[in-house]
Amino acid sequence: MGRNADMNDAVLKVEHLTKRYPVKKGVFGRTGAYVHALEDVSFEVHRGETFAIVGESGCGKSTTGKCVLRLTEPTEGTVTLDGEDFTSLKGEDLTRARQKMKLIFQDPYSSLNPRMTVADIIAEPIDIAGTYKTRAERDARVEQIMQAVGLDLAYKYRYPHEFSGGQRQRIGIARALAVKPKLIVCDEPVSALDVSIQAQVLNLLDDLKEQFGLTYLFIAHGLNVVKHVSDRVGVMYLGKMMEIAPKKALYADPLSPYTQALLSAIPSVDPAAKRERIILEGDVPSPIDPPAGCRFAGRCFAKVEGCDEVAPPLVEVKPDHQCACHRYDEGGPGTAQVG
Ligand code: ADP
Ligand code: MG
Repeated sequence: MGRNADMNDAVLKVEHLTKRYPVKKGVFGRTGAYVHALEDVSFEVHRGETFAIVGESGCGKSTTGKCVLRLTEPTEGTVTLDGEDFTSLKGEDLTRARQKMKLIFQDPYSSLNPRMTVADIIAEPIDIAGTYKTRAERDARVEQIMQAVGLDLAYKYRYPHEFSGGQRQRIGIARALAVKPKLIVCDEPVSALDVSIQAQVLNLLDDLKEQFGLTYLFIAHGLNVVKHVSDRVGVMYLGKMMEIAPKKALYADPLSPYTQALLSAIPSVDPAAKRERIILEGDVPSPIDPPAGCRFAGRCFAKVEGCDEVAPPLVEVKPDHQCACHRYDEGGPGTAQVG
C-alpha cells in the first residue's frame, strides 16, 4: 500500500472542523442544547494514500465524512479540495467540485436504487457529469468499470435485489469510481457485510487504489480492519482527533493512552507482540455535554493533574506523528510527567 502516496501533495485538507447538531429539548421542542459531534478536527489526506479514521460508534467519523462532502454543513472550519476552498463554494461551482469526491456507503442494501439496473446505477454519475459525448463511449466506460470491480457483464441489466451484499458493494464501488474522483470517502464499507466476504471487498478497494491511483478517506470502526488497508491513521474519541500517525508507527508505538487501550483489545496472533490488555473504566461521556478538558480524561489510566480542565492540543511529537495528550504537550498540564 501507499507506493504512490505523495506526502507533500494534499488532495484534502481539513482544518479546525467543528460540527454541532442542534437538539430539541422539552415539550415545546425548543433548541438549546447541541450534540458536539466534532470539535476542532484537522488532518490532511495526501494524493495516493489511504487515510483511515477510526474510533468507537458515535465519535464523529461519519460526521467528518459528511462535512468533507458537504452533505451536512460544518459549524466551523474549512475543507480544501485540491487547493480549492470547498467550504465556501455555491451553486454550479459546488456541483462541479462535488464531482471530485465520491462516497461509498456503509449499507449496500439501502444505498442502491432498487428500480435501476446495474448499468444505469453505474452510469448515473457519468451522465450527471456529462463526461462522454457518445452513448457508445459511455457504455464502454460502464463495462470497463464493471470489469474492474469484478462484476460479470452478463449482470448489466439486473436489479440490485438480485445480488448478494458483497456484489452490491461492488456496484456501489463501481458507481463511485465511474467519474474518476480525486477522493473517495469510504464510510465503513465492509461493516454491513458477512465476515467471510469483508476481506474480498477490502482487497478489491486496495487493488483499485493501485490500479487507478485512487485516494481514500477510509472510515472504520476498529483498528483490525484498518491494519490491512491504511497508510496513515487518525484515531478519534468523542469528536476529537486524539492521534495521527503512519500505520506502522501507530501500531508499533501508540502515543495516546486511548490508542494504547484500543490496540490492547485486539487479539494478537504473534505472541511476541502481545500487549497487556488495558480495560477502560466507565462509558463514553455524552456528546451533548462533553468534558471541559481532555475528552478522554475520565477514563484515562495515565491522567495527570490538569487533564480534566484543559483540552490538550494535537501536537507533533515525532516526525509525522501527532498526538493530543498532555503527556506530550510541553508547557501544558502534566509536563513534569513526560518520561
Ligand atoms: P460515527 O460515525 O463515528 O458513529 P457520527 O458522526 O454518526 O458518529 O455521530 C457523531 C455524534 O453526532 C453522535 O453522538 C450522533 O448521535 C450525533 N449525530 C449524528 N448525526 C446527527 C444529526 N443529524 N442530528 C443530531 N445528532 C447527530
Ligand atoms: Mg458512522
